[in-house]
Amino acid sequence: MKNLKEFLIVKFREHPDFQAWKKKFPDMFAFSEEVHVVPWEEEFGIVDRHPEAIDEIEFYEELRKNGMISNEEFEEKLREIHKRYGTVSRTEGVAWIKRKEVSFRRRNPHLSTVLHELGHVYFEATDPIWSSIYGGGELLMWLIIKGKTEGNEESIRRWHEFIRYAYENPDLLLSILDKKAKITAQRLGIDLEEIVKLDYLPEGHPAYKHEIMKLMLFAGTLPHEDAEEQPQPILIGILEGIRWGEALYSELIKDLLS
Ligand SMILES: [Zn+2]
Repeated sequence: MKNLKEFLIVKFREHPDFQAWKKKFPDMFAFSEEVHVVPWEEEFGIVDRHPEAIDEIEFYEELRKNGMISNEEFEEKLREIHKRYGTVSRTEGVAWIKRKEVSFRRRNPHLSTVLHELGHVYFEATDPIWSSIYGGGELLMWLIIKGKTEGNEESIRRWHEFIRYAYENPDLLLSILDKKAKITAQRLGIDLEEIVKLDYLPEGHPAYKHEIMKLMLFAGTLPHEDAEEQPQPILIGILEGIRWGEALYSELIKDLLS
């Protein structure tokens, strides 16, 4: 059976994101040789949301392919189905971390699907630690691929630690974030105490206690009142900020990952 390194090279040789990824994550790329691609089986998709909607879409796709309905009719059907079910999504790939195997539903999966499954195996991380949807390491990896910030495999591991702390030890995470936010603020000449004075926050708001939240205010984000118990949205916010070019978070992440 084909190894994932060959698979990547064959499918994505010309893809600019693949080129960038390979350069920035050389260990992950080398590791892909140890990962095997196994054929897809229908039961892998067991976690699909709304499988009946997928069946319906496939049915109309078939009709269109055979010329029994027009493209316009097909689009119309699609809109109707989406309206009925809301978001329709399905599992495009799976990974077995211990067995070092991956499988893809399509013959030509998207690069993001392939790197997602490889990431599970390489970092030995399950979702939500890895998944970009939850602000996991995958999101940081893509920001690095796209040149929005600097980093490598080590940065991702560090980020996974933060995500784990967010779930298991919020106090520890906040103390690390506070320390780093202080360093960033000092480096940029920002007076964090001045920021809270300027804001009209209810008494007891966690932003009075935490440097990271003061820095968030400075970046125009109001920390949630339960951010001390559930600091995970702070991590998502930092990466999302970088994604949209927020300069302050782009500086903060340098201190977070160093
Ligand atoms: Zn996943």
